[in-house]
Amino acid sequence: MTSGQPVYLDHLATTPVDPAVLAAMTDVLREHFGNASSGTHAYGWSAQALAENARAEVAALVSCEPREVVFTSGATEANNLALRGTADLWPQPGRIVTTTLEHSSVDRTLDVLAARGWQVVRVPCGPDGLVPAAAVADALTDDTRLVAVNAAQNELGTLQPWARIAAACRERGVVCHVDAAQAAGKVPLDFRADGIGLLALSAHKIYGPKGVGALVVRAREPRVELRPQITGGGQERGLRAGTLNVPAVVGMGVACRLALARRERDAARLREQGARLYARLADRIADLVLNGDARARLPGCLNLRFPGVPAGELMRAVPTLALSAGAACTSGEGRPSAALLALGLNAEQAGCCLRLSLGRGTTDAEVDAAADRLAAAVLELRKEKGTA
Ligand code: PMP
Repeated sequence: MTSGQPVYLDHLATTPVDPAVLAAMTDVLREHFGNASSGTHAYGWSAQALAENARAEVAALVSCEPREVVFTSGATEANNLALRGTADLWPQPGRIVTTTLEHSSVDRTLDVLAARGWQVVRVPCGPDGLVPAAAVADALTDDTRLVAVNAAQNELGTLQPWARIAAACRERGVVCHVDAAQAAGKVPLDFRADGIGLLALSAHKIYGPKGVGALVVRAREPRVELRPQITGGGQERGLRAGTLNVPAVVGMGVACRLALARRERDAARLREQGARLYARLADRIADLVLNGDARARLPGCLNLRFPGVPAGELMRAVPTLALSAGAACTSGEGRPSAALLALGLNAEQAGCCLRLSLGRGTTDAEVDAAADRLAAAVLELRKEKGTA
């Protein structure tokens, strides 16, 4: 962390670019400007070779085939392609089953499809922030065309039972789309073994650049069809037209390779640091509440409720910590977090929650300092309010 900068505890919003990612991208920008679609000369060939190498690295992270990887501008576009691309295949609107815990790029896209006549069924989560696979299975009907579920929830950090949901979908012949923007590279995820149909990925959550991601589209057993949403030059097997952003794609490839190599080590350390942070806070704040299941969660991610202490006031009291009250994408809206309301919290309770997400560069000293500063601020604010 740069000295003088706040301690960064918001790795679910985004992560710093890994130096190896930056070096690889800089090299491409300097030396390999070719268009990956130019098949008539060496400039194009080298760009294409770099992109194909990156495609293989992305595929290795999630255990799919390289040809199944469709590069996009991020997970938002990947989710849009999965949902709209499936819906557009059908002459008549049908049913889509999803959950109350989806990212806005899924949730709002489904609102658009609902306005077109699709029946969107949102299966609720339990108070533990987990959506039971059986409840999703029960919601499947003969006219269900798609299931959309996140692998890791972006505000709570909880891990959904995507493999069991995908298995239920396969039994009914329904395509299962998994939004793995927050999970891939952090917890084991196997596209093929888990029986997933479509999978959204994002590079900037795993120390890659922003503005690049992928949709994995199952090529066999069974092949998943999609209607492209961006048409043009036919790149990415016709599923996503546009000149490939080779530097970003290469950056994503390196980020995936590093994530795969380091995942277990990083996860073990982050799990320990998350537990340390929680214990140090709980020690000073007796009524501290962890939102969402304690075990089925991303390593090093906590969503905490500080009863009676509004999140905005608390964040202003600890300017040396970079935290958030939830999703960065919707933090400008000033509404209570939909995920926290879905957990069963009321608006007042949801307004007293913070998301703390640690990352690869987080040190134990930062964890301790964060816990101490937060605990002191909570106690001070309560004293001022006379609620101590
Ligand atoms: N899905 C989830 C679960 C996310 O957390 C995010 C990023 N906040 C996205 C999708 C969107 O990803 P991107 O920023 O790459 O568009």
